[in-house]
Amino acid sequence: MEWIDLSVPLKTGMHTYPGDIPFEMKPLLRIAHGKVCNLSALQLGTHAGTHVDPPWHFVEDGIRVDELPLDLLIGKAYVVSVRSAPAVTADSLAAADVPEGTERLLIQTDNSFGVWDKTGFQPDFVYLAPEAAEWIVQKGIRLVGIDYLSIEQFRAPQPLAHRTLLGAGVIVVEGLNLRALEPGWVRFICLPLRIEGGDGAPARAVARRIE
Ligand SMILES: [Zn+2]
Repeated sequence: MEWIDLSVPLKTGMHTYPGDIPFEMKPLLRIAHGKVCNLSALQLGTHAGTHVDPPWHFVEDGIRVDELPLDLLIGKAYVVSVRSAPAVTADSLAAADVPEGTERLLIQTDNSFGVWDKTGFQPDFVYLAPEAAEWIVQKGIRLVGIDYLSIEQFRAPQPLAHRTLLGAGVIVVEGLNLRALEPGWVRFICLPLRIEGGDGAPARAVARRIE
């Protein structure tokens, strides 16, 4: 089986969470303009596209993105598919037969089947219900990935899913495209940029099915 890219392209016009700065790649030097090389400057938020939330994103004494353990960012992950639902609930996760001892959980939703193809930020994305976040913590899962820019319902009165997960030290990967995955075990690699003291960082995330 081949490695599958689960990250979304960083490009002008990509989906950006409201209030976040839009991605831009600004040309500094171009060979086509007589320069010796091509060189650019980037403008992007720490939570642009596929990215990782470390605990410090919502918890003041939590660890930062450069302190996340590599052994958690790389390893076996279990993929579940929760389709035709506006939110991922504890019941839907309980029905997904997540094996005992699962450390990394990737949740494929309807987001992976269309939301990324639309133009601009999509506020009606499928989110993780706060009680599903509690379920994840109680299961002992230590990393959870979801397939749109936030795990939290858009305009939720309180960021309960984030607080529950990050408060328990569960690492959150957001902005994945999980369309190509099927339920079951995968090898998973997700490496956020080593931004010192960062509240988040864009990441390349890949997976390969375990036969
Ligand atoms: Zn984030």
